[in-house]
Amino acid sequence: ATTVLATACGPAPAATTADATKVKLTPDDKPYVGFVLDTLKEERWYKDKALFEKAIQDQGGHVKTLAANGLDDVQVKQAELLIQEGVDVLVVVPHDAEKSAAIVEKAHAAGVKVLSYDRLIKNADVDYYVSFDNEKVGVMQAQEIVKRQPTGNYAYIGGAETDNNAVLFRQGAMSVLKPLIDKGNIRLVYDKYTEGWDPATAEKNMASALQQNGNKINAVVAANDGTAGGVINALQAAGVSGVPVSGQDAELAGVQRVAKGTQAMTIYKPITAIAKQAADMALQIAKGTAIQTTSKVNNGKIDVPAILLEPTAVTKDNIRDTVVKDDYLKEADIYGAK
Ligand code: BGC
Repeated sequence: ATTVLATACGPAPAATTADATKVKLTPDDKPYVGFVLDTLKEERWYKDKALFEKAIQDQGGHVKTLAANGLDDVQVKQAELLIQEGVDVLVVVPHDAEKSAAIVEKAHAAGVKVLSYDRLIKNADVDYYVSFDNEKVGVMQAQEIVKRQPTGNYAYIGGAETDNNAVLFRQGAMSVLKPLIDKGNIRLVYDKYTEGWDPATAEKNMASALQQNGNKINAVVAANDGTAGGVINALQAAGVSGVPVSGQDAELAGVQRVAKGTQAMTIYKPITAIAKQAADMALQIAKGTAIQTTSKVNNGKIDVPAILLEPTAVTKDNIRDTVVKDDYLKEADIYGAK
């Protein structure tokens, strides 16, 4: 479990001087960008990695990506390594919103700015943040489920509580559910975060939710396609059908379930857009050019200058007009070859 996935895209390291804290390992003046990922477990992160690296390289920069397999210590070490290699800027998808503050401190001590990618690093002097409107993701998930199932017993199967996004997804969903709970239309009979966003854990939790409620669960708001997959397995194992389940990420398996009708919806977040946006910002930071942001997000310590992109809800009815139209997924892969 301690494997460290490292993909080097820059040139081979040159000789270093012993006393330098930061030695630039690129043989030229090209900007050098470090990309630190929490995980490559969900399908989307492969797209983030490939598209981000391409966007940096296309604009003449060097990039190296390291993924930490969900391990906080590993993630901090990987960031340190990149700082020592002389990156001009660090782009970070934190595993743990709080613990990753250490990365910002270390980077700043070496004069390296930090761009928080998709997930916010909390309680640190983060320089910039690029993400989607994550509260809106939760709102859209709950709205679609309520539309299909306006009354009855609800379960909320969240993401990892250590991920600030998971907290925002839940907040967004609860802003829709709370008034209906207060009115007595909906009963929230199960509400749990899923450690490490692990689909198997989500499945186990859903199985106990069903057991605790004599299988009487009418609707499930699940935070992403991974957890939704676990929830749907548990429903099928219990022989329960017709329960709307939400998701997120427009993973191929998720969209296939939406097409089939076993999953009510997913959220499409165009990874091309966030990767390009982050790459542009990273290169501007590296060159010291001013950056235009459109909003500010408080991370518990400061208001971080941010750019938040729009998520899109995907149901059976608009698969072709969204993910297929954007070439995010292929029609033949979703529906099977004709
Ligand atoms: C991302 C989701 C992803 C989840 C698990 C969240 O922070 O916003 O897109 O499904 O992490 O990796």
